[in-house]
Amino acid sequence: MQGISPHFDFLFNNLNKMAYIFFNPTRFGPVNQKMADFCSCEIYELEGQSISVILDQDEIEKVKKFNQKIFEEGLRKSAKMEIEINTELHIIEVDTIPHHNQDGEVDYLLCLAEDITAEIKKEERFYRNKKRYSSIFKKAPLAFVVSDRKTNIIDWNDKAEEIFGWQKEEVVNKNFNLIVAEESYAEITDVIENVFEEKKSYNINKNIAKDGSELYCEWNTALIKDKNDKVLEIISIAQDISEKIRTRKRIENQKEELKYSELRTQFFANISHELKTPLNLIFSSLQLLEYKLQNSEAQQNNQFDKYLSSIRNNGFRLLRLVNNLIDLTKIDVNTFQLHRGNFDIIELVKSVVKSTGDYLEAKNRNFRFESELDSQIIACDPFNIERVILNLISNAVKFTAEGDEILLRIEKEEAQVKISLRDTGIGIKKENQDIIFEQFRQVDQNFNKKREGSGIGLSLVKSIVEMHGGKITLDSIYGIYSCFNIYLPLEKIDKKTLAAESYSADSLLNKVELEFSDINYI
Ligand code: ADP
Repeated sequence: MQGISPHFDFLFNNLNKMAYIFFNPTRFGPVNQKMADFCSCEIYELEGQSISVILDQDEIEKVKKFNQKIFEEGLRKSAKMEIEINTELHIIEVDTIPHHNQDGEVDYLLCLAEDITAEIKKEERFYRNKKRYSSIFKKAPLAFVVSDRKTNIIDWNDKAEEIFGWQKEEVVNKNFNLIVAEESYAEITDVIENVFEEKKSYNINKNIAKDGSELYCEWNTALIKDKNDKVLEIISIAQDISEKIRTRKRIENQKEELKYSELRTQFFANISHELKTPLNLIFSSLQLLEYKLQNSEAQQNNQFDKYLSSIRNNGFRLLRLVNNLIDLTKIDVNTFQLHRGNFDIIELVKSVVKSTGDYLEAKNRNFRFESELDSQIIACDPFNIERVILNLISNAVKFTAEGDEILLRIEKEEAQVKISLRDTGIGIKKENQDIIFEQFRQVDQNFNKKREGSGIGLSLVKSIVEMHGGKITLDSIYGIYSCFNIYLPLEKIDKKTLAAESYSADSLLNKVELEFSDINYI
């Protein structure tokens, strides 16, 4: 090698870097084995050759300019270069060192080069991964909370901000317990201990948001360790499952409620039947007593009349209540059955009206009956229709005063029979017009104190009418009038049921006594 020390050869060839020399900017001087290997050729194929043997036109220009500058300025420089060797692109880092002769001029350049392709790729991959993970971290639909070994929060993502309501800056350096409900503190300690022992890392916690609201989260916790297994961070990933938990609780409550309501229904059914037995005994004893007293001296003086009718009427009140309770219970559990047949509804209503005549007269109510129709056969259960009409009439008496008017009118309206009962009584306030059809609802509790009742009647009436495929409506102006309208469909059924066939109006008077027992009570 011209002008270079003989020791140089030895160093030059044993360097663990590629090395080559430029005596002019575009032609290789000596080249070491490493460089030849990198270029997949022999030393002689490079030595003394133009750089064009390994570089394309663009790069030749770049290298030429670069080298020329160092020849001129005499300053050491590093640069990265791309070289395509056997169609594979390599990146090399070249350290170009100018050699100055005794006159201070640069007489050659020593280039030490290293193939850094693998490192660059690794760096790129790392960078890409980092970017990928940081965008997952930021935008994930799960809350990510990163904390240190002492569970102090280091970082958290957008979803955590959304769920817990704290901005990242507000929670950094605060303990994780900031977002944990006090009752879950101990559990968190357990979870962290478990995670450090590499056991279970899943749990559901009651958490607390910035505004104090409680939420339930499903947590997965993991440790982030370095190469030497040293724990660097704890990462906890949470999903807000409050809605799921609330729905589950609601369903559990509903189940509980259903169980309770079944029990209540069963209890009602049992107790109602139990109440009927002694009532029947009272009625039969009463009958016996009345019979025995019939010709007695005491009876002739009407001495016991008052007491007997009190027993009788209060017995009826109790019986009516028990019957209604039994029916309501049956309706609740869908075992209430109508026994429908084809009946003349006009005839039916007329006979109910007739049977109430004495009562209405005794109560001094101005009662009128009007019907647009002489007869109309429809499918209905006569027992229950009687109850409905009696119930409405008894309410009309109950909520009117002497001299008030009660008008019962039947007319045809489209494909329905409309039965309306209008009274000039106390009326019903607008806000109460819907609730009076609910079970056990009475309005104006104080005002009604002197009027007896259980709040069952109208809900039963409504159910019976609806089971007939009809509906009941109410018009009322408080203090002026109430008008209940029943609409029943004009339809017939093919076959009469047995119960319907066996219907006779004979017992109607007893039923009136029964339905009116709240009014007559002494
Ligand atoms: P109750 O057995 O208490 O009479 P109902 O279900 O028959 O029960 O009636 C419920 C409530 O509706 C009554 O307590 C009363 O407040 C109101 N109500 C019913 N009918 C009339 C009416 N004709 N005039 C005014 N209020 C009425």
